[in-house]
Amino acid sequence: MQGFFDTKIEFLKGVGPQKAALLNKELNIFTYGDLIQYYPFRHEDRTKFYDIKEVNGSMPYIQVKGKVRHYELKGPPRKQRLIVYINDGTGELELVWFKGAQWMLKKIQPGVEYVVFGKPTVFGSKLNLAHPEIEVATQANTAGGYLQPVYSSTDLLRRKYLDSKAISKLIKTLLDSALPKLRETMPAVLLEQYALLDKQNAIANIHFPKNLALLNNAQFRLKFEELFYVQIRLLKLKLTRIDKFRGISFDNADLLNEFYTNHLPFDLTNAQKRVIKEIYKDMRSGKQMNRLLQGDVGSGKTIVAFICLLIAIGSDTQGAIMAPTEILATQHYTGLKEFADKMGLRIALLTGSTKKSERKIIHEYLKSGELHILVGTHALLEEVVQFKKLGLAIVDEQHRFGVAQRSKLWQKNTDVYPHVLVMTATPIPRTLAMTLYGDLDISVIDELPAGRKPIKTVHRYDSNRLKVNSFLKEQIDLGRQVYVVYPLIEESEKLDLKDLMDGYESIARAFPEIPLSIVHGKMKPDAKEWEMQRFVKGETKIMVATTVIEVGVNVPNASVMVIENAERFGLAQLHQLRGRVGRGADQSYCILISGFKLSKEARTRIETMVRTNNGFEIADTDLQLRGPGDLMGTQQSGVLDLLIADLGKDGKILQSARQAAQAVLNDDPNLSEPKNSVIKTQIASMKKTAVNWSRIS
Ligand code: ADP
Ligand code: MG
Repeated sequence: MQGFFDTKIEFLKGVGPQKAALLNKELNIFTYGDLIQYYPFRHEDRTKFYDIKEVNGSMPYIQVKGKVRHYELKGPPRKQRLIVYINDGTGELELVWFKGAQWMLKKIQPGVEYVVFGKPTVFGSKLNLAHPEIEVATQANTAGGYLQPVYSSTDLLRRKYLDSKAISKLIKTLLDSALPKLRETMPAVLLEQYALLDKQNAIANIHFPKNLALLNNAQFRLKFEELFYVQIRLLKLKLTRIDKFRGISFDNADLLNEFYTNHLPFDLTNAQKRVIKEIYKDMRSGKQMNRLLQGDVGSGKTIVAFICLLIAIGSDTQGAIMAPTEILATQHYTGLKEFADKMGLRIALLTGSTKKSERKIIHEYLKSGELHILVGTHALLEEVVQFKKLGLAIVDEQHRFGVAQRSKLWQKNTDVYPHVLVMTATPIPRTLAMTLYGDLDISVIDELPAGRKPIKTVHRYDSNRLKVNSFLKEQIDLGRQVYVVYPLIEESEKLDLKDLMDGYESIARAFPEIPLSIVHGKMKPDAKEWEMQRFVKGETKIMVATTVIEVGVNVPNASVMVIENAERFGLAQLHQLRGRVGRGADQSYCILISGFKLSKEARTRIETMVRTNNGFEIADTDLQLRGPGDLMGTQQSGVLDLLIADLGKDGKILQSARQAAQAVLNDDPNLSEPKNSVIKTQIASMKKTAVNWSRIS
């Protein structure tokens, strides 16, 4: 039976080698199984025929049935449009074709009854349907009561006549023979508990639903199943690892206590305390820790990281922090060194630009155990970098590292894996974290240190520029510094650079007395560095830049962030940029400047930024607006190649699917009981196909 679904798609009636090659290339459809799982992205409601007199411009897609009374061609020959008047006895409706008028004309015959489907639009005082679907009325298409699936296709496919309709036809052909062969892939207990539609009905109704209720049930069942298997595999992975990997058990808290009693520079927030407890518990457990630490910019991850390092060093092991860029590594180093010095611990920085002589010393001290903490970039992964005994590996901003790289870090020990803490400052919505990092435990610092003044964010139009400028002047007179950021994307790089230069010049004109810096990606590194340093030292007051400043710049005296063309930035980026200010004691501001004309999405993004500073709330909105595929760092993770579930919208289903998966594993960790054999079989069959799966483990 397995064999049937593995049949190559070219053997399906109506496909053949040429079309098969296209389906392979364009839609990744290789087998019968693939085609069956090529789900429609929506359904057209063909359940109802409207009377033409009921139709109005606010309706989405509608279906009417009527006879063509007459038609006319209007406009000059090259731009001819065809207008067809159709009447159903209750009224008359215009159908318009701006393209292919001559071709359509051949299809239309007065007096014949047609079924017409399209979106009503108001044009002047009249209502029309532009480029509707039109077919001669037949028994089949007027019987009513069906929801027509719409499949996404591509230009190339359409050129070979594989449009949505044609795909739908292929699927229909296939389903006739395939449905009886489909086996159930969910255990009976869960089918009952979650009132899930059985597999055959789910597949039949996802493509050709008998009614809306069945369509909804089919969608729910298939989404649930998809998310259930993602979760059960992640949770199994975690179980296996906990079983397999012993961890070093740390129980000496002397260093920790000394730091707490003598050197703690401020009271920890409750969130920091909670997270440290969670981590400490893991590190004492004797099992290897694999934990994700999430915390927004400024939430105080550095001191948490240091305290965790103390736990490791206290038990005679070493610690490492790996960051994705040299700037970030240097920042960690500077932050941690301050604490390490107080505790008399040795810490070093190792990056691509560390001198050879220095490198040698680092390698030596690392091997002998005299060096306690090593901070660096992926230079840490090199073979020559060897620890006496690595106890805790911290990886910052995990999504920029491949998993292979991460695991290299933990293989630095031959006898036992170090504990691993993955830190990220990119807030990830819960639903996404559960899927992307479902095999890690998660800790969240969801509270900023007390006394931090929330950044005030406002939205201003281009036309308010004079007012904005006088505000900037005020702030500079108070001794503050200002960022002005311009978007720069590769596709429009030239134009964007011109925007930046124009902006720079108009700022120079508006603030003739004030020293400025300018930084963009096209500058030579040392010129860039020099300009940055002038701003860092306070010699310049305004920094005009592209998004190169997004990561790594820390100037506490900079308290105003102006973002030009704010409508062109994504939410995650806006949030990251805003995080550049609000680092000092002064009230900080973020000014989002845009044109008057804004798309609905751009408006939502800007409104969200104005409303909240909460990174998680922003990430949630981002996920809903864009879907998970576009979120920072998630592009490469095969996990998100979901066929039907949408992490932005199906959070609730994900929640229950995870609970269900957890319950199954609690009850039967090895899935060895007969009632769970379905799950075992399904996981085994997925392993063959899911090529990307290993990437997230
Ligand atoms: P993150 O790395 O999470 O962006 P940092 O660790 O750099 O944040 O901390 C941001 C700033 O807040 C630093 O200046 C740090 O000293 C300070 N800070 C951290 N925790 C606290 C706290 N509990 N109370 C007061 N200030 C804190
Ligand atoms: Mg930090």
